[in-house]
Amino acid sequence: MTSYTLTLQEEHLEQLKALTFRDNEKEGAAFLLCGRSKIESDIWTGKKEERFLSREVYPIPDAEIIVSTTTQVTFKHETYLRLLKLAEQKDFAVVLVHSHPAGFQGFSKTDDNGETGLFQLALNRNGSNRPQLSLIIDRDSNLIARAWNKNETHPVSLIRVIGKRIHLHYEDKYSTLSREEFARQALAFGPALNNDLQKLKIAVIGCGGTGSPTAMLLARLGVGHILLIDDDCIETTNLNRLHGSSMMDAKNKTPKVSVVERMINAMELGITVRTIKGNVESKECQDALKSVDLIFGCTDDNLGRMILNRIAYCYLIPVIDMGLKIKVKEGSSPLELQSLDGRVTFLFPNGACLLCRSVIDSKKARDEYLRKTNPEEYEKLVKEEYVEGEGNPSPSVVTFTTEIASMSVNELLDRLQGFRGEFGGKSERRRMFITCEDGKTGAKQRDECPVCKSKNYQGRGDMTPFLDISL
Ligand SMILES: [Zn+2]
Ligand SMILES: [Zn+2]
Repeated sequence: MTSYTLTLQEEHLEQLKALTFRDNEKEGAAFLLCGRSKIESDIWTGKKEERFLSREVYPIPDAEIIVSTTTQVTFKHETYLRLLKLAEQKDFAVVLVHSHPAGFQGFSKTDDNGETGLFQLALNRNGSNRPQLSLIIDRDSNLIARAWNKNETHPVSLIRVIGKRIHLHYEDKYSTLSREEFARQALAFGPALNNDLQKLKIAVIGCGGTGSPTAMLLARLGVGHILLIDDDCIETTNLNRLHGSSMMDAKNKTPKVSVVERMINAMELGITVRTIKGNVESKECQDALKSVDLIFGCTDDNLGRMILNRIAYCYLIPVIDMGLKIKVKEGSSPLELQSLDGRVTFLFPNGACLLCRSVIDSKKARDEYLRKTNPEEYEKLVKEEYVEGEGNPSPSVVTFTTEIASMSVNELLDRLQGFRGEFGGKSERRRMFITCEDGKTGAKQRDECPVCKSKNYQGRGDMTPFLDISL
């Protein structure tokens, strides 16, 4: 049984509302072109998921509208057929969007009849097995959708609206059957936040100094589904900061993901944890990454960040990336700190990416790739000084790594619940621990950036090779 979900860019939803509510009394319609993400096996349920990812909104010209009343809208098919052709070439999907200004929540008999005809037309034209989607917006901006697959309809179980804020639409969102374990946070933020957290599927990439507290906090908040990805095993030098780890783990070389999983399971909060001991760029992570709603980037490597950066835009999966930098003044004795800074960056469509923010060093990413795939060649190049070696281990202190994790998870809470208000949503925050100052750094999308500036990747979904990266 396949589940169907939709991810809408906030900007597209605004455009759709403007187009379909041009008249507050009468129904209006428009089209949305979507990329696809086909998930073979959701890492939590093992089920297939077809995810539709919004790319572009298309109006239906006035000349094509046949009837628009309080209870129905009908139109000629020129625009639809043109879009079907476009979709066919790139394996996109065309979504029919219409408004219900009268407030009827759900698909009406008129919708059933109209859509049967329309989607039959698509089936006849394309002859393909692609599912099609239909979305309704009501006066209060409630959204419901259904998928059509060979004349059968299936409910769309989750609609994510992604922008500066993250809005989730699903059945039972406003159910007040709150669990006692999480009652105290409902007192601050309301029951809907608890329901959202329970619904969410979140990946934590990297289970070290920032990743282990991030995962721990997500579990305490009641995030229902957590995926942990890390290739490393516990070493003695990790014990100063890795939550949940012990000397025995260092002796046994326990994988970091297993330590964090054990810590979450011991809470007995009903969180479903999945782990992959591997690198985020490996093939085995692809399907798992596609099946999440949000990612926390807790890795320090450039290659891993490069992957997450692309996923954010291609698959419309928001990434909260974090980092801590401790710099000691060169040659100082006794040691003197030059800087001790933390960073949290929220990546969403239309915001500047990690390349534009100079968080990723592409050359280092290539070097890291070489080190992982061809260690001999890498060592040779290090000796010949063609590539920089790994250098000395960087300093790290648990109080600061944990604070950055805490800041990052608060970022998630604000994006979901909006407690900081309209002006809270800055895409990057820095905490300067020496001066006790917080800053917000702006960044511009670079005109030549292939990831965030080009519309080509936004909501593109599945591509060959994965993320258009040849590794
Ligand atoms: Zn309708
Ligand atoms: Zn960029």
